[in-house]
Amino acid sequence: MSKEVGLALTIVGAIGALIGVILMLSCTASFFGTCVQHAYSSVGVLAALGGGAMLLVGIVLLATAKSGGPGPSISPFSPAFSPAYPAPPQGAANPVATPLCNVCGQPLAWIAQNNRWYCSRCGQYR
Ligand SMILES: [Zn+2]
Repeated sequence: MSKEVGLALTIVGAIGALIGVILMLSCTASFFGTCVQHAYSSVGVLAALGGGAMLLVGIVLLATAKSGGPGPSISPFSPAFSPAYPAPPQGAANPVATPLCNVCGQPLAWIAQNNRWYCSRCGQYR
């Protein structure tokens, strides 16, 4: 079982329980003294119980998924949840950080023959 299943069960269960409670309250909220919406009330009880059960299962699944840690047990069942190969950042290929111009902020160019950094925007050596 993956973490997404637990999350989905938690959400669906919470919504179901909420709807069930609303349906149960709609019965007692009738101002006729007697319960005229008895069918809705029973549906509400079932929805509340089912939703509460799903909510509990979802919470348990979420808790076990979190406490599972880096175990390899969940990897065969959730290929979509396994981290994809991260793209390397753009500047990773250049280990030497290019200094920025302290005036305009543009990356400086190294002029080897002058042994200095040159800003093409300012047109000056730094
Ligand atoms: Zn500059």
